Amino acid sequence: MKYFGAHVSAAGGVENAPANAHAIGAEGFALFTKNQRQWVAKPLAAGEIDAFREACERYGYTPAQILPHDSYLINLGHPEKEPLEKSRAAFLDEMQRCELLGLDRLNFHPGSHVGQGVEKGIELVADQLNGVLAPDQKTTVLLETMSGKGSELGKTFEELAAIIERVDLKEKLGVCLDTCHVSDGGYDIVHDLDGVLTEFDSIIGLRRLKAIHLNDSKNPPGSRKDRHACLGEGTIGLEALGRIVRHPALKDLPFCLETPNDLPGYAREIALMREMAEA
Ligand code: FE
Ligand code: FE
Ligand code: ZN
Repeated sequence: MKYFGAHVSAAGGVENAPANAHAIGAEGFALFTKNQRQWVAKPLAAGEIDAFREACERYGYTPAQILPHDSYLINLGHPEKEPLEKSRAAFLDEMQRCELLGLDRLNFHPGSHVGQGVEKGIELVADQLNGVLAPDQKTTVLLETMSGKGSELGKTFEELAAIIERVDLKEKLGVCLDTCHVSDGGYDIVHDLDGVLTEFDSIIGLRRLKAIHLNDSKNPPGSRKDRHACLGEGTIGLEALGRIVRHPALKDLPFCLETPNDLPGYAREIALMREMAEA
């Protein structure tokens, strides 16, 4: 099943996210389960958890249609001990929040090496994952393909594969492909989508691909900038985005918008995605 959703606000409490998604006609949604720019969050209260689960039921959202995203502060590849430990604890907390909410996936940015080099960064990210992933957890963590801004890890399929390779509980790992990021990372999804997906399949394996972030990009391919544009207003363009939405290899995946929009803008783009999928 394919569904179309957007990253919606959970301001005022996670229980508000399902209604926001419903209001824009989304079949699914992404959310932060805590403020994404703060380290510490209040633990989820029992009332909040119940309200979230009830709202999901009311609007018909199952865990497969919900894609939590981790905090932007977390860096599982940080070279210094203290921020690394803080990141690891925060990541563990993010996973636990997902489990409490009855969700079963967590989309995250692999990390940044901050000058220590890609190889060392990859090792650290994998070490942190090995430290927090547990056999009895429901949550699959999805490594996001990154643009390569700054010292971001995960800008190539090889870097993601190298992280996965070093993790013991590989069945707890998946990948989320962000179209703005892969384009900014230098993959030509406009002229050679088949080639890019073939490369993804041979290096990571398409069976690991669990979600798509559908975004246009403000910058040209290879720019490593990570600035999302509304669909059709960037360098990827509607034609190429349509081919992505319709690609047979991606037909069962959730598609989620992270475009610079308010709720009415998201509603328009969700309708547009559906139209493109049927074209
Ligand atoms: Fe992201
Ligand atoms: Fe993304
Ligand atoms: Zn981005």
